[in-house]
Amino acid sequence: MNHRALLVLITCTAIGLAGCSSPKRGIPVSTLGPKIKRFAPVVLSADTSTLSEGNRGALRLLVQSMKILDRIYLRQAWSGNEELLKRLTGDETPEGQERLEYFLVNMGPWSKLDRDEPFIAGVPPQKPLGANYYPERMKKEEFLLWLSTLPESEQKKATGFFFTVRTDQYGTLKAVPYSEEYRDLLTPLSKLLRNAAALADNPSLRAYLEKRADAFLSNEYYDSDIAWMHLDSPIDVTIGPYEVYMDELFNYKAAFEGFVTIRNDTESVKLARFSSYLQEIEDNLPIAPRYRNRTLGSMAPIRVVDEVAIGGESRAGVQTAAFNLPNDERVIRETGSKRVMLRNVQEAKFRKILLPIAGLAVDPFQHSSIKFEPFFTHILAHELVHGLGPHTINVRGRATTVRQEMKEIGSALEEAKADVGGLFALQYLIDKGVLPKTFEELLYPTFLAGIFRTLRFGSEDAHGQGMALQCNYLWDEGAVQYNETLGTFSVIIPKMKEAVKKLTGEIMTLQAEGNYQKAKDLLGRYALVRPQMQRTLDKLSALPVDIHPQFPLAGETDRSSEE
Ligand code: ZN
Repeated sequence: MNHRALLVLITCTAIGLAGCSSPKRGIPVSTLGPKIKRFAPVVLSADTSTLSEGNRGALRLLVQSMKILDRIYLRQAWSGNEELLKRLTGDETPEGQERLEYFLVNMGPWSKLDRDEPFIAGVPPQKPLGANYYPERMKKEEFLLWLSTLPESEQKKATGFFFTVRTDQYGTLKAVPYSEEYRDLLTPLSKLLRNAAALADNPSLRAYLEKRADAFLSNEYYDSDIAWMHLDSPIDVTIGPYEVYMDELFNYKAAFEGFVTIRNDTESVKLARFSSYLQEIEDNLPIAPRYRNRTLGSMAPIRVVDEVAIGGESRAGVQTAAFNLPNDERVIRETGSKRVMLRNVQEAKFRKILLPIAGLAVDPFQHSSIKFEPFFTHILAHELVHGLGPHTINVRGRATTVRQEMKEIGSALEEAKADVGGLFALQYLIDKGVLPKTFEELLYPTFLAGIFRTLRFGSEDAHGQGMALQCNYLWDEGAVQYNETLGTFSVIIPKMKEAVKKLTGEIMTLQAEGNYQKAKDLLGRYALVRPQMQRTLDKLSALPVDIHPQFPLAGETDRSSEE
């Protein structure tokens, strides 16, 4: 799971009149400038001077490999993307260059910040819900009917991460492995990784790159997922098909993404300290004891890194600040998952987005409590808590997973669980004396400011839904209050503790029961933007929504650099 929002609510009102020349859906606006300005440019880099010569050679190739990921992802997102990109690249007019730039921000012709409104003439008015993973005209019911006719092993492929669904010559649906579907791009990608492995000095990096190179050709990702779990190297890299958010039909299919990063050892050690309390927190989760994991398994590693290049889905829209991978329950069960915190991304976001938002959305008396440290620590807790609570479950005697049972609402629920569960975990550590009591005063106001950062992304996206759910729930519990005069929110710190515990328990219990209908009802009741919240959100319209990183190590210097 990653920590970002993909779809965003902000429409024309959010960017002022300049972007509003054509309110009708399907017709591109005359200038994309105001839309592009919503992404504050930042330069992201890291100190590579301590890398060995071999590792530096490997780094160069890994940075190159991101370009291939971009191409695979574009193809996954929409069948027309590759041809469209060629056309856009050939257009040298200023408008053409703007279209190209905004296409690359979104990695497609639909504006993620505008409910996937198209911004290039001639593309379909609706982004396909199933992306390019399924036949474009396939209905959900058609898939389910086909699925019911398949033996179990074939069902696994049909609903699996690494298979597209296509039609055969008779018009019948069939599952196609990624290794076959994207062979023309996975072959050179595999070769680049193998060459990088040959240069790399670090054994765990070499092993990961070699196994990943194999996986791209064999479609068997298990071994390389395990190797990624054991990756412990100055160059930390994550490359492959991972997140399922783009599959809005079923959340089954994984999009290719990549992060090339440099490890930050000092921070990694500091943060790993929290991990030693994970089992204890699990044992004290506010759910029935039978739903707790008696043994969490081997301690999952934490990495704090600085981004130097990204590719594929990682480029699209709002930037990932932290992630928890892999998503495959089999690997999670056996080795746990690994958390990667993108420190330089988080710092940039805090500086460019969160502080300005806090100034307008949070009651002035709580402004001085909004700090980078609690912001960073809560993101860490969020990622840790993804690993806690129910994953593999039992519904009326049937062994299954939360992901399979919760289907399309699974991500929203899981993100809310990680956020509010993260608060629960940190409060637990405060009460234990592991964190100072004064941390409370910073944690909750900073979290509140973060709610509005995410809510700007809209209540359609998993993270936005999750945050709206939390905000309204905490509000109804009396832990959040609204200042009618100022149009600002504040947190009532003494009430947060119980409210956070209650919501954490409620969400995790629904997950443990695999209770899809009740979970859907909960989201239906709370995961919406109330008028007061909208009033506050409207005030934020002129602020940048996210960052647009440029990576000097990847030769990206095209846009005006950071102020
Ligand atoms: Zn998350």
